[in-house]
Amino acid sequence: MSVLAMKFGGTSVGSSAAIAQLSTIVNAQYQEWDHVVVVVSAMSGVTDMLITGAAAAARGDRTSAKSTAEALRARHHQTLKELAGDNADTAHVSSEIEALIGEFELLTQSVSVLGEASPRAIDAISSLGERMSVRLVAAALRASGRPAVAIDASDVVLTSAEFGNAAPLYPQTRERIQARIMPLFAQGITPVITGFIGATELGAVTTLGRGGSDYSGAIFGEALDADMVDIYTDVDGVMTTDPRLVSNAQVLPNLSYAEMGELAYFGAKVLHPKTIRPVIERGIPIRIRNTFNPSHTGTLVTRQSAPSERAIRAVTVIRNMNLITVEGRGMIGVQGIAARTFGAVSDAGANVLMISQASSEQSICFVIPNSSSTAVVTTLEQSLRHEIERGDIDRIKSRTDVVIVTVVGVGIHERPGVAAKVFAAVAAANVNILVIAQGSSECSISIVVAASDGDHSVKALHELALE
Ligand code: ADP
Ligand code: ASP
Ligand code: MG
Repeated sequence: MSVLAMKFGGTSVGSSAAIAQLSTIVNAQYQEWDHVVVVVSAMSGVTDMLITGAAAAARGDRTSAKSTAEALRARHHQTLKELAGDNADTAHVSSEIEALIGEFELLTQSVSVLGEASPRAIDAISSLGERMSVRLVAAALRASGRPAVAIDASDVVLTSAEFGNAAPLYPQTRERIQARIMPLFAQGITPVITGFIGATELGAVTTLGRGGSDYSGAIFGEALDADMVDIYTDVDGVMTTDPRLVSNAQVLPNLSYAEMGELAYFGAKVLHPKTIRPVIERGIPIRIRNTFNPSHTGTLVTRQSAPSERAIRAVTVIRNMNLITVEGRGMIGVQGIAARTFGAVSDAGANVLMISQASSEQSICFVIPNSSSTAVVTTLEQSLRHEIERGDIDRIKSRTDVVIVTVVGVGIHERPGVAAKVFAAVAAANVNILVIAQGSSECSISIVVAASDGDHSVKALHELALE
């Protein structure tokens, strides 16, 4: 029995024309595969609208929540009509969509009464986009003659209660997915499942983090022992850099899981960084393909990438970062300084993206999102106050508006002189490097530079990926 898991992103379900294209692609897969499972995102822009609507309601602004509901209503009903016309099936789907918009209105009303949107409320609200889009996609497939049902992943993906960043719990999730989907496969029905969402044991809806539908695609692929996970998006595959930044970026025909993981972690939005986790153990290949150019073979991600001429294969950037430096001559040999520093960062709830310690032990520096910097500095000053009073630590510096630029490729640490080339290219672009770090997976080098130097650093380094 061969199984294909397919995930379609926001643009790929963003209009009736896109969903019609999706339907053609899914139908064509049945020539090659016994069973196909489809995982979809919300229509493009819808998750942002829902979250903005929730935030407006929390500020007491009920008018914007109302106009959001109207816009959602118009877009989804119109799309359904264009896809499947007026009939008993679409009338039923229409009423389901109406009920979900009713849920949005009710939830935003409660948020406005409370004057606050809790993470739990935000998840309940932001899950609605996928819950609407699956119904459109399933209806479109049925209209094309393919039996299909819409499924809310909150019925099967069991997660932790970390709203906004929930972790799926195995093996219960795997068991539930199999119990729900296998009977559909047996009846020749295509399951169309919401990406991005799950639920806690008590049934509260959770989300897996922004962009998390890719992760859902891999979770379903793994649970159903799929032979392949296809990620359909709006570009031809994973490229040497973000094509919005550099116009001559090229599609990479293949990548290893390690390279893909590093690229995604360091900012390539094309794939959610957790996507490779579920598939890596069984070595399920992931293909990244273009819904709007389906004849392109895209990028194949497997355990090992084919040998490449180039040590550096791609360049990424993460923006809106803050560089924190804890420094002082008295730090040498003081026990546990690093542990306490990172303990404080974790207490402040911040996510550390990169760490670098000077070998002289006179400073520790790390990069966190700008949004966490105030909390981190306050917590650090508190927890290291004795060292600061004694003069062991001279200062805690926070530099806002830096970016992390990363070059990725398995060859980076195998071949001599790659780091030298990276630094020479950046120097030639007149960029001052603030920090350097080598990825622990040994297939990347990251540098931190001022935000104003970000774009030309990427452009300069991208030349090395094309050489
Ligand atoms: P989807 O909604 O299909 O998940 P996303 O917008 O999340 O799509 O991701 C696709 C986008 O990622 C592309 O349109 C592209 O602008 C961006 N992107 C960033 N870095 C890369 C890269 N290295 N290769 C391809 N696309 C990239
Ligand atoms: N709709 C969700 C988001 O916009 C998940 C996704 O598209 O992957 O973040
Ligand atoms: Mg995405």
